[in-house]
Amino acid sequence: MQFGYTEHCLEHDTGPRHPETADRLQAIREGLKQRYEVVYREPELSSREAIRQVHDPSYVQDVESFCRDGGGKWDADTIASEATWEAALAAAGLAEWAAKTALEGASGRKTPFALGRPPGHHAVFDDAMGFCFFNNTAVAAESALESSADSVAIIDWDVHHGNGTQDLFYDRNDVFYASIHEEGLYPGTGEANETGTGVGEGANLNVPLPSGVPDSGYLHVIEEVIVPAFDRFDPDLLLVSAGFDAHQQDPISRMHLSTEGYALLTDRLRRLGVPTGYVLEGGYGLETLADGVAMVHETFDGRDPIVPDGDPNRDIVDLTATLREEFGLDWESPGVGCRIGHGLLADLPASIWTGLRLVAHVQTTTHEWLPGSIRLLSANSADELTSASGSWGFWSGTPGAVTNRSGEKTRWDETTTQTAMSR
Ligand SMILES: [Zn+2]
Repeated sequence: MQFGYTEHCLEHDTGPRHPETADRLQAIREGLKQRYEVVYREPELSSREAIRQVHDPSYVQDVESFCRDGGGKWDADTIASEATWEAALAAAGLAEWAAKTALEGASGRKTPFALGRPPGHHAVFDDAMGFCFFNNTAVAAESALESSADSVAIIDWDVHHGNGTQDLFYDRNDVFYASIHEEGLYPGTGEANETGTGVGEGANLNVPLPSGVPDSGYLHVIEEVIVPAFDRFDPDLLLVSAGFDAHQQDPISRMHLSTEGYALLTDRLRRLGVPTGYVLEGGYGLETLADGVAMVHETFDGRDPIVPDGDPNRDIVDLTATLREEFGLDWESPGVGCRIGHGLLADLPASIWTGLRLVAHVQTTTHEWLPGSIRLLSANSADELTSASGSWGFWSGTPGAVTNRSGEKTRWDETTTQTAMSR
């Protein structure tokens, strides 16, 4: 792999007895010394403008001033030093580099991995939290959308829920966010019913796992829920929020993922065949963190993962079944599952229609498709739907890819609607 790395990120000093230290990056570098084909790049820092695409400008200013004044405790566990400002810009710059490099075609052994700190996925629009100042992955996603990508998926396998990333894109249909995390851990968000809002409905997928889930459970979730939902969204770019704190020996979680488990996750995502960049999040056992990153590297270098013995336990099977139902992944229809089709169209809240100019199908109350009754409707309110009609294609239910009746796959947007309506 190509690793983005800069010494700016070592300078971010969180003080004694803090789990998120520069030793983490040193351990990763040490672990990679024994591997072949490791290449380092040192990209530029993110610009203030790039950070402001994601964060409140006055918050960005506050972080800069806080650091210039010597830093200190932003909150109980989020600590800055004077050098944190440059480190935070550098960490975001590394993530931007990973996205750009992937979009330019670097794949396989050249797949980019941004080794930055402070981490990012807890940082929200106007605040730092959970060791994170700027949401590096979100900055990268936004800059990818500014350049050549029309849509981005973020898969977050850190053991904590990426509340910041979820919040930033919760009402958006151009970024799909999926997180697998330990239920009940910091920051307490990430329930399965947090699925997005407005046009972003269905573009946020949380898989909160009970503690102690081993490799087989993770694999089951990836294969049964994350991959099908990802395929349906059909993004131009995948960013992986790669934390390594779900490892069975990580000091701050209770999951049972093994080092081999990270190879399995990597292998499944690698096979999606979409331009992909990795961005470091957490991971606090120095040895297991180094081993985890090395395992991602080895997997891209051609190492086959070892498939775990044993089936996932009942809890995991039930949870994936619930999520498949929730996201309409089991729907058999001429197109794809339709999440917003659960119930009668007229029962849907008006907020769903606002500005959407959507599309719908006609359904019975028992959730069966009525053959031949699929319709394209352009409506800004539920009321308009009752009088609108048409017959061309239909909405996939999740923002993203749409399949029309001839089986052609396209991306749904307003232009598509207009084209369809004029037929
Ligand atoms: Zn974490």
